[in-house]
Amino acid sequence: MRIFVNQIGFDFQVEVERMTYLFFEEDIVTFEPYGDPDLEIRIRLFDGQEQIAAEAELSEKGTVRSTGSSGQLAVADMEQAARRKKCKQTVLQALHDCLADYTGEGQPWGILTGVRPMKLVHGMVQSGMPQQEIVCVLQDHYRIAPDRIRLLFDILDAQQDALPDLYQIADQASLYIGIPFCPTHCAYCTFPAYSMEDKYTYAADFLRALEKEFAAVGRFLREYRIPVTSVYLGGGTPTSLNPPELEFLMEMLYREIPGGEAWAKRGREAGRNGMAKSGIWREFTVEAGRPDTITPERVEVLRRFFVNRISVNPQTYKAETLKTIGRGHTPDIVDRRFRLVKEAGFENINMDMILGLPGEDLDDVRYTRERIGALQPDSVTVHTMSFKRTAVVNKEKDRFTIPHTQLVRMMMAETDRWARDLGYRPYYVYRQKNILGNLENTGYAMPGKEGIYNISIMEERQCIIGLGGGASTKLIGPDGRSFGRLGNPREPKAYVETIDTVLEKKIDQLKRMNEMILQQQL
Ligand code: SF4
Repeated sequence: MRIFVNQIGFDFQVEVERMTYLFFEEDIVTFEPYGDPDLEIRIRLFDGQEQIAAEAELSEKGTVRSTGSSGQLAVADMEQAARRKKCKQTVLQALHDCLADYTGEGQPWGILTGVRPMKLVHGMVQSGMPQQEIVCVLQDHYRIAPDRIRLLFDILDAQQDALPDLYQIADQASLYIGIPFCPTHCAYCTFPAYSMEDKYTYAADFLRALEKEFAAVGRFLREYRIPVTSVYLGGGTPTSLNPPELEFLMEMLYREIPGGEAWAKRGREAGRNGMAKSGIWREFTVEAGRPDTITPERVEVLRRFFVNRISVNPQTYKAETLKTIGRGHTPDIVDRRFRLVKEAGFENINMDMILGLPGEDLDDVRYTRERIGALQPDSVTVHTMSFKRTAVVNKEKDRFTIPHTQLVRMMMAETDRWARDLGYRPYYVYRQKNILGNLENTGYAMPGKEGIYNISIMEERQCIIGLGGGASTKLIGPDGRSFGRLGNPREPKAYVETIDTVLEKKIDQLKRMNEMILQQQL
């Protein structure tokens, strides 16, 4: 089907095109008035001094099939950028309503384009807005569907329980350590995941470069007396390091980063049956991700160094899909490795699953849930397939059969019910570009088992200092104010060769941000 969009009085073509494609995924949207289109969408903006209004009208071969309209108050002396934003939102509201009317279904996230919907909610909560008013903004302004609004408030509750000082943790930081090696490269992934051959070539130099980062970041944290909230070892697959390499990493982490002593002491006192949730280092996660890398020797190192949260990720229990997406492990190995970490005494075990994997249907997802449910992990992270530009599933689209939007939305609705029925609560959510069904990724956890790091990174209420391959440092000041971000080189060779310059810049920016904040506080 060819759809001609006729926009009058504005130029937000990119946003209008994106919204139209959300409703008409497989059709052709054009802004050029040639030929005889199947549908015509006419959108008109009225940008008045005190009122901004938009109307959208969809016609099929000359007959009007649906309409949408929207209006917002404006003031004459509004800044141009603010006025433009309001105009854009008004246009998208009218277009959304018109297309929802025609197709019979609105978008789950309405006109919201940001990847972190909870940030919007936290901003309103912190400004003192009553819950009912927040609901109105989400519903009337952003056109967010009622079930997603409920999701946001459920997450708010869970986050307030798990991290009651979320709005006060800007004077702390969390650490992300990236180990950019993986046994094989999964087709959907764009994380730094270099081969085991690269690992053999670069592991020693990589760890020495990482040691420099630990030392410099540790000095910075001590100098500015910044406590560490949580430590997250991710990648890639950190457990692609062999046990002596892991041990080397753990030793430098505890030696250089403040708070490690206290965490270890707490770990020794708490023994295997749970650690205190408060105080310095509230959590130490290792994303063991790939079950095939979890061996008794590696598990022994992780436990000896008081890792308390670990991820063992099946993604799916369908063997054929695992092969298609290049995960290189079997479903049964997931169960065996899960039992291994369970018996080792990790107090918090997470499992990830993906909805919308190539060739999967509702029964496949039900089967995956059944197998995960049988293991009773402490948390389950439910991802929706997204088509990142450089991922194999995107570059070689024709090779994969991707489930349709409606099917993926059913998978998500069922999975949400399943998780809640088992007692899991949603505790963080984020969206991605080109995500199937315009859906989301949601982390569910049993009460008290929420991932602290996941909340910190999603809600952007504190600095995340990234160390290692491809790790990002997010500079966040009080009230979630962003001071920018810095990325470490992804490629191991580049990381090793440029570490001194990268580090100098990172520490310089971290110091400058902290000096600025200290000055403002005087
Ligand atoms: S194991 Fe994880 S990080 Fe590695 S390629 Fe697969 S999804 Fe990406």
